[in-house]
Amino acid sequence: MTSQDKYSLLRTILKTIGLSQEAIDDIVDRISDWLSEKGDDKSVEKIEYPYLVRDDFLSPAELSFYLVLRNAVSESVLVCPKVALGDLFYAKSSDNSKHRIYTNKIDRKHVDFLLCDPKTVRPILGIELDDKSHQRQDRQERDAFVENVFAAAKLPLVRVPVKFSYSVTDLAAFLQPFLGKKETPAPQSTVVQVANGSPNCPKCGTEMILRTAKSGANQGEKFWGCSNYPQCRGTLKAA
Ligand SMILES: [Zn+2]
Repeated sequence: MTSQDKYSLLRTILKTIGLSQEAIDDIVDRISDWLSEKGDDKSVEKIEYPYLVRDDFLSPAELSFYLVLRNAVSESVLVCPKVALGDLFYAKSSDNSKHRIYTNKIDRKHVDFLLCDPKTVRPILGIELDDKSHQRQDRQERDAFVENVFAAAKLPLVRVPVKFSYSVTDLAAFLQPFLGKKETPAPQSTVVQVANGSPNCPKCGTEMILRTAKSGANQGEKFWGCSNYPQCRGTLKAA
């Protein structure tokens, strides 16, 4: 069996267990990297860095939209281009293998622009720039998936069709309903009585861990902290 055949078989197996194409590519890349590493200690010295800065970090269409977007929101909002979904979201699952699958699904995907609160850098709104590629079927599946991820995480996402030119006023008016919203306060911590086991996080529903406050006014006191910390900062007072 050639290594080409082996990878092809591996891809078929991974596809059968329901992994996405991106997850499969990632796993095959990792295994191929791993197998090509030599066992001797000198392999560390042989690592090469054949990297260059891309000229197309933003495409011309993205850049022209970005410049109008900056004008439309001025200083009230921070505009981050190309944010990886893995940096923006995390998967809630206490099952490790499911967690990996959910994480792989958002791996290698990004949102074109993310608007954040300029002081707290808290995400407010995702913006996707729709060009012709969004009419392709694989692209539509990807778009629907990304929309569902945003909806599940309750972060608004809007689509803006690519145009030759944009009106700053129109774009500002379009975005205003999303930017005017007051930040939702974190859920109030309440005292919980737990007969046995741990409570579930009020923010993400994952099991919590009993911790001791290391600093602050409550130093030394026990509290429940989310096991997804620091991705989720949900806490509860321990009874
Ligand atoms: Zn949590």
